[in-house]
Amino acid sequence: MKDIKRATVAEIMRDPAKYTGSEVDVKGWVRTRRGNKNVQFVALNDGSTIKNLQIVFDLSKFSDEDLKRVTTGSSIHVQGELVASQGKGQSVEVQAGELEIYGTANPDEYPLQKKGHTMEFLREKAHLRPRTNTFGAVLRIRHAMAYAIHKFFNDKGFFYFHTPLITASDCEGAGAQFVATTLDIENPPRTEDGKVDYSKDFFGKQACLTVSGQLEGELGATALGCIYTFGPTFRAENSNTPRHLSEFWMIEPEMAFYEIADNMDLAEEFIKYCIQYALDNCMDDIEFLSEHFDKELVERLRFVVDNDFVRLPYTEGIRILEEAVKSGRKFEFPVYWGVDLASEHERYLVEEHFHKPVILTDYPKEIKAFYMKLNDDGKTVRAMDVLFPKIGEIIGGSQREENYDKLKARIDEQGLTGMDWYLDTRRFGTVPHSGFGLGFERLLLFVTGMQNIRDVIPFPRYPGNCEF
Ligand code: ATP
Ligand code: MN
Repeated sequence: MKDIKRATVAEIMRDPAKYTGSEVDVKGWVRTRRGNKNVQFVALNDGSTIKNLQIVFDLSKFSDEDLKRVTTGSSIHVQGELVASQGKGQSVEVQAGELEIYGTANPDEYPLQKKGHTMEFLREKAHLRPRTNTFGAVLRIRHAMAYAIHKFFNDKGFFYFHTPLITASDCEGAGAQFVATTLDIENPPRTEDGKVDYSKDFFGKQACLTVSGQLEGELGATALGCIYTFGPTFRAENSNTPRHLSEFWMIEPEMAFYEIADNMDLAEEFIKYCIQYALDNCMDDIEFLSEHFDKELVERLRFVVDNDFVRLPYTEGIRILEEAVKSGRKFEFPVYWGVDLASEHERYLVEEHFHKPVILTDYPKEIKAFYMKLNDDGKTVRAMDVLFPKIGEIIGGSQREENYDKLKARIDEQGLTGMDWYLDTRRFGTVPHSGFGLGFERLLLFVTGMQNIRDVIPFPRYPGNCEF
């Protein structure tokens, strides 16, 4: 092999003219090989782009023996001249001069032979599925979205604030947490009344994996002004739906001096920015996914970017849904004031009634978390959920209760303890503030057009499944 600097397929495809006529050095995995006795064509993919680079092997230069081992899934290193391609489907190709085979992939054993595997099959081969076109596209988009999120907040002067993954605070007061313990679970130490004695545990008290970084995020916002978190979140709820994971990533901005209206404006600007970023930077991958899974994908992305989100109080939303029921629309779950909306209701408002994303506000306090600011009516809180086509809830947020006495009363009502540190933000220099949580994989579902949340994260965790 000659001493030539390696180029990725993405680099070559971005500027083929720069490389045409000169020798290139490329490395990657073989997607397919086809041809005849005189010439063989290899589609090479190195993960840098959805595009394959065609490598042409002239069989007067390469032996059958060499090429027999160049099968789907094998990894190779090629040097040769980049030339304009005669064939259809690609603008340039490499005339192979040198070939090195790194690793073969026995065709009888390598599972990703043919194209068009089902998502279910690929989920069973989750350790290899990043090598497929589909997952390559999804994972590159996932990366781009993570970058866009950091860029959005950084450019706005928000600070990336790291909240703990192991926590002793039970965020929502709900029980859906994984316990983090080093106690001998076969034979744990017990207190006199027979309960597990967590004072003997690693941290000297019971600790769990976080379900949200919000409460700690508020400590950051009431010091730094505007912060955001972006990290993994764990929920031990038994939700076997295409929209729930047991381990998912969440982005939680929290802003001092933001009221609910500011919060809604930010959420709308933020999500439009992310989607516009995908349209500007991920079009190759989006077009591939659109062609194979979801013909309306690009249109749906543009639709969100181009439309103002509707702002609608919950009470109005219920009225619209009740009207729909009266005129014969059937829902699986009942609709009445006070109900926690199901995804079918959310999607009705978005897809059938408004034909626009909807930000639903002012929910009954009973169905929302204790920290949300109570409205003057005493019945509703300043919550805001952003509802999207196909997804339903993509963002959940609120203005927070900044009044110490009201917040303390809600905490006591719910029997929460150990919240003094949180209440201190209201005891000392309290300010109006707001924030929201965006489920990263819900955003990716929307941007990629994939149907199941398990297919937009490399290693999905859900009830009954924890591979690798
Ligand atoms: P849902 O009603 O859909 O179960 P939630 O009300 O429990 O969601 P929040 O606690 O408000 O959700 O969390 C904020 C955001 O995190 C949600 O808007 C959603 O995008 C995302 N999210 C919540 N639970 C999950 C999950 N199990 N898997 C993936 N994303 C989730
Ligand atoms: Mn929610």
